[in-house]
Amino acid sequence: MSTAQLPVPATPVKEDLNSFRIAMRQFDYAAEKCGLEPGLCEVLRRPRRALSLSLPVKMDDGTIRVFEGFRVQHNSARGPCKGGIRYHPNVTFDEVKALATWMTWKCAIVNIPFGGAKGGIVCDPHKLSHNELERLTRRYAYEISPLIGPDKDIPAPDVYTDAQVMAWIMDTYSMTHGSNAPGVVTGKPLFLGGSLGRNEATARGCLFVIRAACEVIGIKLVGATVAIQGFGNAGSIAAQLLSQEGAKIIAISDSHGGIMNMEGLNIAELLAHKAKTSSVADFPGSKPITSEAVLELQCEILIPAALENQITLQNAERVQARIVAEAANGPTTPDADLVLHNRGIMVIPDVLANAGGVTVSYFEWVQDLQELFWEEDDVNRRLEKIMTKAFEGVFRTATIYDVDMRTGAYILAVDRVATATRVRGIWP
Ligand code: NAD
Repeated sequence: MSTAQLPVPATPVKEDLNSFRIAMRQFDYAAEKCGLEPGLCEVLRRPRRALSLSLPVKMDDGTIRVFEGFRVQHNSARGPCKGGIRYHPNVTFDEVKALATWMTWKCAIVNIPFGGAKGGIVCDPHKLSHNELERLTRRYAYEISPLIGPDKDIPAPDVYTDAQVMAWIMDTYSMTHGSNAPGVVTGKPLFLGGSLGRNEATARGCLFVIRAACEVIGIKLVGATVAIQGFGNAGSIAAQLLSQEGAKIIAISDSHGGIMNMEGLNIAELLAHKAKTSSVADFPGSKPITSEAVLELQCEILIPAALENQITLQNAERVQARIVAEAANGPTTPDADLVLHNRGIMVIPDVLANAGGVTVSYFEWVQDLQELFWEEDDVNRRLEKIMTKAFEGVFRTATIYDVDMRTGAYILAVDRVATATRVRGIWP
């Protein structure tokens, strides 16, 4: 992968951090590289449907509050739409459009028969009671229920949503449709049709592609130093799995602060500390570090596992990792991407690095439809096969086109979705 053709950004300028425009810019670059015809470009760069909602909820104190919600379906050429639901005070319609777009490419990269979707509600779930959260979720599920369904659009958890939220959505959908529909969401509790291995799937998939990248670059995973931003589902389980593989986790942050220990953090003890205090901050035996500084530590592997726009023109020159594995969606801006690529840092893009989650969601959906459930070993073995093959496909495409890994991933994905669209034809 030569870097000759990539312009190096000059001194830091103000970047466009709008996630949807970033998603379109990434797409445009790949579409141009693979010579996609202009008409298809227009079809594939826009969401097919975008629903904006007002969600009235009766609060525990008797007052009424109206929350803003979204569901966006980007593309369904390769199968039903698929994508998580995010509850966050800063979530925007454009962010959800971007996340839906990235889901389309992600499903195509791992070659599972889904298109892309995403949902969100502007709220801080930590400030809602359990009952308020349930009422908000059920109202949202009701409002999106004409669009979703096991063969139409299948939501899943994302930031600040979990198996309980999925159970409420499944129940609301089932009650209003008059039949039990476990296949309408994934990431459910096990006893309601969830899959073994789904909770760990995003991090496990990330581990498989990190392993493949280490082989290509010549890094030994045993003893490799790792820094992780975010200690939720993706980040905390990645820390656990990587330390079980013998890697040394030297720094971790969450929304309350960060910690570091160059000798390596004990992840089992850190998980117990977080369970007690709700944060990694003040972990005994560690030094405090800011979340921003975690990104700039000298280490072999950096895993952004929190939110978008963390590696930008402002800090890309200071990233010292050899591999950046994007467990989060959209952590690196396009300009920062160029800086990292020109500096020889391999970025395993989000659409590949965190695709383990949607892959095991696909397994969950298949098990629900068949009403036949698999052993965890079986889930993990199939996941490894898919992730390794996807890494090889992306790496090969990047090499053939002489581009960075993200553009390689996009070219692979765009070609698959474009082929499906061409063969199906544009209706009517
Ligand atoms: P989560 O809600 O379980 O965890 C989010 C974590 O990020 C928390 O530890 C939170 O404290 C931390 N965080 C928030 N702001 C931060 C900041 N400024 N600095 C450091 N940490 C911060 O969410 P998750 O499911 O782990 O998702 C994290 C990322 O992974 C998101 O981008 C999500 O879209 C992506 N992702 C998740 C899955 C999945 O299956 N969970 C699948 C694919 C992609």
